[in-house]
Formats: sequence, C-alpha cells, structure tokens
Amino acid sequence: MGTEPTATGRTPTDVISTNPASGAEIGRFPAAGAAAVNAAVVRAQEAGRWWAGLGFKDRKHRLLRWRAQVANRMTELAGLLHDETGKPYAEAVVEVAAAISDIDWAARHARRVLGHRRVRRVLAVAEAAAHLEYRPYGVVGVIGPWNYPVLVPISSIAYALAAGNAVVHKPSELAPAVGQWLADTFAEVVPEQPVLQAVHGGGEAGTALCRSGVGKISFTGSTATAKRVMATCAETLTPVVLEGGGKDAMIVDTDADLAAAADACVWGAFTNAGQSCVGIERAYVAAQVYDDFLSRVVARAGRLTVGGGVDADIGPITLPGQLEVIRRHIEDALARGGRAVLGGPEAVRPPYARPTILVDVPPDALAVREETFGPTLVVTPVATMAEALRQANDTPYGLGGAVYGTRRAVAVARRLRAGMVSVNDVLSFAGMASLPWGGLGDSGIGRLRGEDGLREFAQAKSIVVRQGPSPLASRTFDRDEKDVDRIVRAFRLRFR
Ligand code: NDP
Repeated sequence: MGTEPTATGRTPTDVISTNPASGAEIGRFPAAGAAAVNAAVVRAQEAGRWWAGLGFKDRKHRLLRWRAQVANRMTELAGLLHDETGKPYAEAVVEVAAAISDIDWAARHARRVLGHRRVRRVLAVAEAAAHLEYRPYGVVGVIGPWNYPVLVPISSIAYALAAGNAVVHKPSELAPAVGQWLADTFAEVVPEQPVLQAVHGGGEAGTALCRSGVGKISFTGSTATAKRVMATCAETLTPVVLEGGGKDAMIVDTDADLAAAADACVWGAFTNAGQSCVGIERAYVAAQVYDDFLSRVVARAGRLTVGGGVDADIGPITLPGQLEVIRRHIEDALARGGRAVLGGPEAVRPPYARPTILVDVPPDALAVREETFGPTLVVTPVATMAEALRQANDTPYGLGGAVYGTRRAVAVARRLRAGMVSVNDVLSFAGMASLPWGGLGDSGIGRLRGEDGLREFAQAKSIVVRQGPSPLASRTFDRDEKDVDRIVRAFRLRFR
C-alpha cells in the first residue's frame, strides 16, 4: 500500500506523525495512493448499503455505543490529541467532550429530521398524499484539518453516519493517529462492515478522494484548499460542503461587563494557540471603555503560560510553516504604524508563538485582513456600534464572532456578517451540537451539525401517492373549457 504510485507517478511513503513540541514520533501510517483510496471507497459503498439497511433505530444504538466508547476512553483520546497536535491536555479534553455531544445529538435526532413524514397536501394536487424522506448519499468523503482533528471531522462523520452513509475520512497528515483512532474505535462497536475508514496522505490523497466516486465531500481547511476541492469535485459534479477559514471579530459595547469580555477575548484569541478557525483575531471596542478593556486583556494574556507540557495554556504551533505567517503579520502591522502592547515579532520562538496584542493597526494590515492562525489579537477603538460592525464586516470571511453588551448586543449580533455569533460569551457555538455550524463568503458553503448538518448528508426524496380522482384536471389532455374555468375559480377562491 505504501509503495503504490500516485496519479502523478510519485510513490507515497508512510505518513509519520510527530509531536510538534518534542519531535518525537507518534506513529506511522501507510500513505494511500489513488488506487488505495478508490479501493476504500468501493469497500465503503458495500458497507454503506448494509449500514443504510439497518435503519435509524439500529444505527442510533450503534452510534450511541460508539459515543460511550469515546466517552469511556476520552482521556486516552485527549492524550493522543495532545501528543499529536501539541494542544494543552485540558483543551484536548474539551474538544473530545464536544465531539461526544455531536455523536449523541446526531444519533438521537436523525430519525426525527430525516425520517419519513407526511407533508400537507396542496390545492393543485389535492387528490394525492405527499411523502418526504431523506436518503443517504451512500459514501461521504470527509477531509479534515489538523487544528481540531477530533471535533471537526466528527461534526461531519457523526451526522453523515446517522444519516445512513458510510464514511471515508482523510485526516490531515499532521493528525493521522487521531483519525485512525476514530476509525478503529468505531470498528470495535461496528465490526461487521468498514462503515468508517481512515485513509492517510496529504493533498494527493484528498484529491483522490474527491475523484473516487463518493456521493459527497465534506471538507474543512483553508479557503485556498476549499477552492481546489470544489474545482476537483466539479469534474464529476460531486456535491460539497466546505468549511473554510475565518477572521472573527469580537465587538464590545459601552455597557458590556468588561471583566467578562476581557477574559472571554483572551480565551477566544489564544485558545489552541490561536489555531482556531473561529478564534478571535480582532476586537472592536467602544472608545469609552477601550482603555479599561485593553489593560485587562493585556494583563490576563500576559499571565498565560506557554510550553509543551500538559498543563500549559498555550502549546506549540502545530504546522511549523505557520510561525512565519504569524511573524509576517506582526511585522507588517508594526511597519504600518501599529504597536505591540504585548509580545511582538520576538514572541515567535519556534516551535512556540507567545501572545501578541497589537493596537493602532490600520485596516489594510495583514493582521486585520488575512487569517493569522496564531496567538495574535488586534484591538481597535470605535466611536459607535455601527462603526464596529462596518469594520468587523469588512472582510471576505464570515465565519463566527462575539458581541459583549447589554441593551443592543443581540441587535448587533444579528448584523454581524457571520454564520455563528456568541452574545456575552465566546465560541459557545462550538459546543452546540444542535445548531448549524458554518460561514458565509470565503468561510465556506453549507452547514455542519444541527438539523441542517444532518440534511447536508442526505438527499430529499419526494413521493406523491394519488388517492382518488383529481378535482382539477391539471395533468391530462382530456379537459375542456369547464375544467380550465374550474381551475381558475378554485385558485381565485383560495388565493385572492
Ligand atoms: P488545509 O487547507 O491545508 O488542509 C485541509 C485538508 O485538506 C487536509 O487534510 C489536507 O491534507 C487536505 N488537502 C490539501 N490539499 C488538498 C487538495 N488539493 N485536495 C483535497 N484535499 C487537500 O487546512 P489546514 O489543515 O491547514 O487547517 C487549517 C485551516 O482550516 C484554517 O484555514 C482554518 O480556519 C480552517 N478550519 C476551518 C474550520 C471551519 O469549520 N470553518 C474549522 C477548522 C479549521 P494535508 O494536511 O495532509 O496536506
């Protein structure tokens, strides 16, 4: 498997997983070329037919057993997650906990959302009963990122499985061990068929999965890769759900609880070393409370501990190349007149980046416009909430956001150009298995989780059953003027 040529003629080698802090090897996984990916999808097609045939009830029981398996072994998974991505152990536990509730919610609600139901009749076809159900695609390909390699794929995998699909998951090559762990534990509770498989490799394996004949691709990663995935899937009209990057903002109003807002901002910006698609990268703060807010944020962020230990607040940067992006964004902000009130370019010390807080940064700086994906935060005062919204919304991304305030907070949240907003909280939507997850613009297409997330992995099927003679001769050549008049009268009476 490891020596099979790829589509480009190169021979894939093992995917080697290492700890980003120590460089220690975590594990090796055979890299899948196109033929191996295709073979996995063929196995999944058979498995998918079997899995779909089990029906909602049986699938629910099996998914709940998997949920219990993950819950029982959550410290093991969190430990692996810590080792493989470098994220602090506590954050790994929180990520696994959110994934467990995704599995639980998807299992419990699939039948209600996707199962057969009768739909109200309509006047035009009053003689027929309307039936709706959502059928699985067969096989769903899931391509995941490295930053939340448990929660992000699970928020596709659990919902796709609950909808009756088999899944082939290509984890990021930086997190293959976690991806394999998910497939292995699933196989322990569903040993009959390979309903959830992991295939390993980099972009080539992802491209092969897009071309493999799966019914749908769920991709989470950078916006640039999302565009490539969409282009590849367009070759075969394979539908996609795409979760891309973000440049999320927090807005702080004059009547906000500043202590709470500052704490939340520090966590939202620096959790997972800022390597969060929904991390707070910008804060727009009412001028009246700006100084107070900024000094609280700087004080709190300055106390964060950085290191590779299980109890550090901030771990290493998982993708070594990202350190250069972080440094470039900081240097660009300073070159354009910005100031670092905490950290600065010297905060980037591989494999770590310590917290950096930037002020006086002009709106055209990289740190304001592009996803930094590191522990940096730009704080900007604004005269009004309208101005806060104008600046917060001035980005091609539209993933998440947060608003702190009392009187106007929900109204401001509604005007934030984002798929998800927390009010007087931060990233709370990340724990909500019941709500749709996704963004606008460059942040992606489609939704994961919640009812929309279940429907994303199923196709609506309408069945119309005639139950008697048609009162309106709308679908026959055997009609006369009287029949046409009857249609006109019926519709006028009903809809005038
Ligand atoms: P990438 O876009 O680099 O990679 C994502 C996945 O796609 C990886 O498994 C990668 O493989 C694979 N891949 C790479 N090239 C191709 C290709 N041509 N065809 C198919 N698959 C391919 O993202 P990262 O892993 O760096 O993740 C970070 C990004 O993810 C950030 O932009 C972040 O904002 C975003 N993200 C978005 C979320 C959301 O819900 N909107 C949630 C979490 C992260 P490999 O890594 O092995 O090269």
